[in-house]
Amino acid sequence: MIRVGQEEGIARLSDLVDACERAVVFTGAGISTESGIPDFRSPGGLWTRMKPIQFQDFVRSREVRREAWARRFEGEDTIAAAQPNAGHRAVARLVGMGIVSAVVTQNIDGLHQLAGVPDDRVIEVHGTARYCKCLACGSRYDNAEVRQMWADSGGEAPDCTVCGGIIKSATISFGQPMPEAEMERAAAEALSCDLMLAIGSSLVVYPAAGVPLTAKRNGARLVILNREETELDHLADLVINAEIGPVLSAVAKVN
Ligand code: NAD
Repeated sequence: MIRVGQEEGIARLSDLVDACERAVVFTGAGISTESGIPDFRSPGGLWTRMKPIQFQDFVRSREVRREAWARRFEGEDTIAAAQPNAGHRAVARLVGMGIVSAVVTQNIDGLHQLAGVPDDRVIEVHGTARYCKCLACGSRYDNAEVRQMWADSGGEAPDCTVCGGIIKSATISFGQPMPEAEMERAAAEALSCDLMLAIGSSLVVYPAAGVPLTAKRNGARLVILNREETELDHLADLVINAEIGPVLSAVAKVN
């Protein structure tokens, strides 16, 4: 493993990107902090301020659901207001150039797509906060519609107007089963690439963190770009400890 900073990281990653046949990008919350969305594990990140609500508790208790919607709608909606940053734009350019075949993301903010990565190239293994879904019948609701239902009922957890089931943000909560189709696609991408770039993830949340691991075990080069150390640094070919935006925009030669 080679550990480098920004300048050497740009040079070495550019060489690897030039030499690869097919790259896959795996992203975590760190790529979106430059868009104003806090990550979980940085100092001051969400983890230190709010305990996440477990899926089983959400399903079991209307009271917990009230709390979940209050957190969602009473707070400032940072995800709705966020715009893609230089890191997202650089990833979109690498996809557009045909170098990166897919972006596997743990993020629920939809910013890769907003930056221009086609929908069918983004694999959201933890779902999306851009809309809501009924857990029973799968009916889809716009966030604005759910917010209106919540406000009209004085802050009650909204129920599905089609089947009476539980409406939930289309994100995958802790304790909720992973989406099978997305996990299969992510594994297939991991097995088909010769370069895996893990960007802005502490690589501690499984099974998602298994995606870069699968690529590495299958013989791909693994590059980790993160400002801090991660759980998988010891397995990486190259670790770049630097800020994401400046490194990726230099590598993808954007602005
Ligand atoms: P994490 O919070 O565990 O790790 C983020 C990592 O990114 C940290 O190690 C941090 O040091 C690094 N980082 C932050 N900003 C950076 C920057 N500008 N440059 C370089 N490094 C930077 O995030 P995770 O691994 O994605 O796991 C958290 C889980 O929470 C994910 O599964 C995700 O679903 C969810 N989440 C998503 C969002 C989002 O959608 N934007 C935000 C918070 C949490």
